[in-house]
Amino acid sequence: MKYKRLAVHTQTTRPLSLADAATAYADRGIAGISVWVEALESLGGISEHATVEAKRIVDDAGLKIPALVRGGFFCAGDATTRARRIDENRRLLETAAGLDAESLVLVVGALPGEPLDRQRGWVRDGIEAMIADAESCNVRIAIEPLHPMYAADKSCINRITDARAICELLDHRLLGVAIDVYHVWWDPDLSREIKLLGAAGRIFGLHVCDWRVPTRDLLTDRTLMGEGCIDVGRIRDEVEAAGFDGWHEVEIFSDDYWAIDQGEFLDQIVASYESL
Ligand code: ZN
Repeated sequence: MKYKRLAVHTQTTRPLSLADAATAYADRGIAGISVWVEALESLGGISEHATVEAKRIVDDAGLKIPALVRGGFFCAGDATTRARRIDENRRLLETAAGLDAESLVLVVGALPGEPLDRQRGWVRDGIEAMIADAESCNVRIAIEPLHPMYAADKSCINRITDARAICELLDHRLLGVAIDVYHVWWDPDLSREIKLLGAAGRIFGLHVCDWRVPTRDLLTDRTLMGEGCIDVGRIRDEVEAAGFDGWHEVEIFSDDYWAIDQGEFLDQIVASYESL
């Protein structure tokens, strides 16, 4: 593959099936495919059958899987639901292992109206409960902080600082952080946090895209690197200077780009990546 460190998230090319995405990525020399749970749905959802089938599809295309995306969603008001969510995450770890994915990415969840520090306690407990499973599966857990605009209902972890605090508390080699430029570019502590994470060997992923100005939708208006206001190249350089040598994962949710031919979109992704 020409682009040995370039991966694309299946949700980036959401209109394509997993099989079509794998073929289209491989045709363009893209070496990695980060598989979203949604991409497994048409194969039967989270199940042994779907895992085997997805692995076959990805292997046939000659691709690797940086990450299974996404588990987490620990925040619920009652203990029974929280325990069920942890069990769901355990199944995702098994799925990631079956796919030979390096990491399971966690979007940790949020419960509107609950104090955020209490919620972060639930997240810490949830991740702690998964660690033995991560060990037996040998899959890394990557906490992904989400931009504060998602603090109400998607993620109570909004800064690398908060993700790093959980990593340091639980202190396990399989626990780290996925850095998504879309979520953390604004953080005044970004450079310092990247250095701290890197020094501890806890950078488990780098997700790239760009922030369109003005942003018209909080979820589905990301854009190609170079088309927005994030200095993606600078953040990538800082992450690499901190010791990260893993994948560059393109993760773009965009109503505009989902509406065009996905092969054309992938050509633009490769061009945007090359210009970084
Ligand atoms: Zn991401």
